[in-house]
Amino acid sequence: MQMLQATQILQIGSSIREAMALINKASIKLCVVTDGDGRLLGTISDGDIRRALLAGMQLDQPIDNLKKDGQVVAFESGTEPSVLLDALDRYEITAVVLVDADGKPVELIDRAALHRTILLSPPHMGETETGYVAQAFEHNWIAPAGPNLTAFEARLATLASRSHAVALSSGTAGLHLALRALNLTVGDTVYVSDLTFVASLQPLYYERLSPVLIDCSPGTWNMSPEALERALARDAAAGSLPRAIVLVHLYGQSAEIGRIIALAETHGVPVVEDAAESLGATYENRPSGAHGLISVFSFNGNKIITTSGGGALLTDDAEIADRVRLLSAQGRDPAEHYQHSEIAYNYRMSNILAGIGLGQLDVLAERVAARRRIFQRYVDGLSDVPGLGFQADAPGSVGNRWLTAISFDPNYVALHPYQILRRLRGMGIETRPGWKPMHMQPLAYGARVEPHSNAEMVSARHFLTTLCLPTGSSLSDAQQDRIIEALRMVIREGAV
Ligand SMILES: *Cc1c(COP(=O)(O)O)cnc(C)c1O
Repeated sequence: MQMLQATQILQIGSSIREAMALINKASIKLCVVTDGDGRLLGTISDGDIRRALLAGMQLDQPIDNLKKDGQVVAFESGTEPSVLLDALDRYEITAVVLVDADGKPVELIDRAALHRTILLSPPHMGETETGYVAQAFEHNWIAPAGPNLTAFEARLATLASRSHAVALSSGTAGLHLALRALNLTVGDTVYVSDLTFVASLQPLYYERLSPVLIDCSPGTWNMSPEALERALARDAAAGSLPRAIVLVHLYGQSAEIGRIIALAETHGVPVVEDAAESLGATYENRPSGAHGLISVFSFNGNKIITTSGGGALLTDDAEIADRVRLLSAQGRDPAEHYQHSEIAYNYRMSNILAGIGLGQLDVLAERVAARRRIFQRYVDGLSDVPGLGFQADAPGSVGNRWLTAISFDPNYVALHPYQILRRLRGMGIETRPGWKPMHMQPLAYGARVEPHSNAEMVSARHFLTTLCLPTGSSLSDAQQDRIIEALRMVIREGAV
């Protein structure tokens, strides 16, 4: 979407020369003219200037006298794209100006922008990625080895306060290797956060392990310490403790790590942090991914930073790190020839993709700040709408707000989230239902479940009442205002 930048706005009184210079640089060949208070007066196009010069006006004359035919076509921010497209056709113009309630221009939209959907969480490249990748080409480090990979792992380890980082082809691969490194055997029990993306669970099935799905807490939507405590007590009494706990930090917000690790330690169960979504978050001033025995990040295309596809496993345990390196590269025995003694994988990250990762690490802090700001703007922009809920930070934590999920209390909001999702889609805004919990997935049919309380599965309520809103770090304020306006309108019209 075309964000209206100050460079595309001219105040009345500016010269025709200034208007020409501005249009010359702008991507939409128009300049937006405002009065002294910043309110929209109209637009000037290339053609307007050409006609003025042919009529004898001079470059240094003010734009004030530029004769304009027709009317100013402006709409309030939040107007549906179909209405805007209609206006482009009707007035045979190339772009329309969106204004705020005070009549100040906030966005200039052309046809291409109207056909482009605001995506949920698109990749956002910085300026250094191509440099690292070019170096890899220059020195022919194309294989899954090389200086980018070494540097990427070193920086990840530092970032997460870990002794070891192994860069991999995906976060899922990292979770799989975490389970392998723990030497689990077929049928062993592993606890997993119920409310998560399926990648937290899939590797259990690769290894024929037996999942127990632990419900979430109502405020944080992360693993419920109450449910965990109950499940551990029951299994301890039965002499069948789980062999591991896969703990997810949902939407980039930390789970209640302190309470959960304390419970796990009481029973001697290792914790694998699925920190795929929470890179850059902190818990008690330590980075996300620094807490469990093993932690895993993802650099998939939709995550806070990306290598297009990729992941990493981190740990302070040298033995685990060595084993994971071995298992990620076909488990080759130390010999001149190719000899292999156990089942292993081709899971290493390439030196090319690690180059993208290095560039993305350069801007990670900015990306976290941008997503946190987007979250706060949603909260502020919707604070007066009754029945909306946002994810709470666990005490002592600062999340990266990778996704902003918003819950709709059906007592106040008459629409089902899917109705809202479809209305917004019609307005060119992509949203997505909250994660569908694992216990509701056909894949996990029959798996044991531990609810937060006797009253309900909180994760199921989350799924049925929640939407994730666009939070890409490249989202402009004007785009976000459009989303907020659109959401307010849909809820208002749906209220009965
Ligand atoms: C994205 C994600 C993963 C998997 O990462 P990939 O790199 O896509 O394999 C695992 N767990 C959670 C919670 C995720 O969101």
